[in-house]
Formats: sequence, structure tokens, C-alpha cells
Amino acid sequence: MKKLSIVVPCYNEEEALGLFYPAVKKVVDELKLLTEYWFINDGSSDQTLAKLKKLHQQNPDQVHYLSFSRNFGKEAAMYAGLKAAEGDYVVIMDADLQDPPSFLPKMVALLETGDWDCVGTRRVDRTGEKKYRAWLSEGFYKLINRISDTQIVPNARDFRMMTRKMVNAVLSMKEYSRFSKGIFSWVGFKTKFLEYHNVERVAGETSWSTWQLFKYAFAGIADFSLLPLNIAVWIGSVSFISAVLGIIFVVVRHIINPSLAIVGWASVVCIILLIGGLQLLCIGIIGRYIGKIYLQVKDRPIYIVDEKA
Ligand code: UDP
Ligand code: MG
Repeated sequence: MKKLSIVVPCYNEEEALGLFYPAVKKVVDELKLLTEYWFINDGSSDQTLAKLKKLHQQNPDQVHYLSFSRNFGKEAAMYAGLKAAEGDYVVIMDADLQDPPSFLPKMVALLETGDWDCVGTRRVDRTGEKKYRAWLSEGFYKLINRISDTQIVPNARDFRMMTRKMVNAVLSMKEYSRFSKGIFSWVGFKTKFLEYHNVERVAGETSWSTWQLFKYAFAGIADFSLLPLNIAVWIGSVSFISAVLGIIFVVVRHIINPSLAIVGWASVVCIILLIGGLQLLCIGIIGRYIGKIYLQVKDRPIYIVDEKA
């Protein structure tokens, strides 16, 4: 019999877990598959770990958990879960029931046909979410798909079921700065997307502020595109060439007509400031990439496990 692993990143989900586990178990027990659950406690500050220990005691054969030494972020939690999972099929689910368990049988059925390596999900609307956030994320998907070679499916969730071979491919990407939406698409394989309407979380609150989402978006762009660096190179070249032409013009004019000195002092200062600003911007962009290289070169672990069961 094939085995299904369910990977659940949990950060301060004490309330949601009590609803999540029975809801998923009810659906999964109907499937003709062996099952294991991998809950990843991502440094929660509430009673999440205690809840997980209880679930493990109730069902030690199926329910397992990893507890991080601190909060490493959802990307690290997903990676740890995929690594721990042993199933032939592995599905990643949020603990807040925003990923409908009712999709699981359909996902398994699609993978069983052998035509697909992965069944993903995407939201067709964002009801219940703030307007400007939906708008920002739409802009983000347009931008990244234009400037990156890796195409990212707009509004795709991390809720996806993968075959063993795709999981192994994802695990083979050991990069420190992880942007899963890009990684899942980069590894290739045949992915079928199921669509659904947004569901609001059952309990607790989202742990993503708009600023965090913004940083996540930039990280995603920097991880999967070199265009910002190329922009820096272009801006730099254009200003350099204009400066050279400007100098030639000023020198020639001085030779032809020396009486035209010092006029335009203010505009010169403006241009100096403009170019200075552009340089700082470009150095900043380059710095972000160097920072990523630095983190990768240090080869730090993506997460640190404190407890495992
Ligand atoms: N999560 C996590 N670590 C974090 C933040 C979130 O493991 O640092 C988990 C969280 O417990 C949930 C999932 O990632 O299971 C999605 O988080 P959330 O619901 O806050 O995000 P949203 O659904 O609003 O995008
Ligand atoms: Mg959520």
C-alpha cells in the first residue's frame, strides 16, 4: 500500500490544531493509504508544542512532530517537513484549514493516474483579504513572471501534493534563502492545478504583516531573477556615457566661448545628487545579492531541531 505524508508547518496554531487534525483525519481515513503526519512547530510561543505532544500520544504511529529551536519561518518548516516525510505522496497543508481537506481524495486520485507528478492549488479570489494586499500580490506576480525565467503560477498556494520523485527534486535544492513558489516551478515535472475560492482561517491570526509579505516578494525576485542587477548595470552605463558626453561638451564650449563659465551651477548640483542617488541604489541592489551569497556560503543549516517524535 502507498503511503501519504501530511506536512503541516505550525506557528502559534494552538487553537487551529484542535480543529485541523480531526477534519483532516476524517478525510484521510477514507483513503486506502497508509498515513503519517509531520507537524513542524516553528518556534511557537503559545501551547502549540504541548498540543502536538498530546496528538502524538494519542496516535504515536501516525502523528510525528519536529520542534524548531526558534522561529525559522514557514519556508524552513516546509523544507524540514518534506525531509522528514517518508511517504510516496507528500502533501503540504496549513494548520488553519485554509487548505480544504476535501481536496485530498481528488489529489490522490490525480496522482494515482500516473499522468501528474504534482497537484497544486490556486485561489481564484481573495475574499476576506484586504484589497490593497490582493492588489500588491497581483502586481508581484506580474512583475516576477516578466523578469524571471521561472514562471510562477499566480495565487498558487503552498497546498500541494507531490510524488516522491518531485519531493526528492525539491529536497535536492539546498539553498538557504528558500522561495518555494519558485522552487516548485523550477524543478519542473507535470503539475495539475485545482482552483478554489478563498477560505478564511478557522482560528488564530495570520502571522504575515504587509511588510513581511513585501520582503518575501523581494526575496523571491532576487532568488529567481538577475534582472535587478542588470538594471543596475544599465543605469550605471547610461549615466557614465552621459557624463562623458557632458564633459566633452563643457570642454569644447569653454574652448570656443570662455565667457559662458559658471552658469548652471544649480543644475550641476542636481545632476550630482541624482547620479549619487542612482549609485547608492545600484550598490544597494548589488548588496542584497551579495548578502544572499554570503548567507549561502556560510552554509548554515536551514533550521535547527530541538525535539523530534
Ligand atoms: N507558519 C510557520 N512559520 C511562520 C509563519 C507561518 O510555520 O513563521 C505557518 C502557519 O502556522 C500556517 C502557515 O504557515 O500553518 C500559513 O501561515 P498563515 O496562515 O499565517 O499565512 P496566510 O495563510 O495568511 O498566508
Ligand atoms: Mg493561513
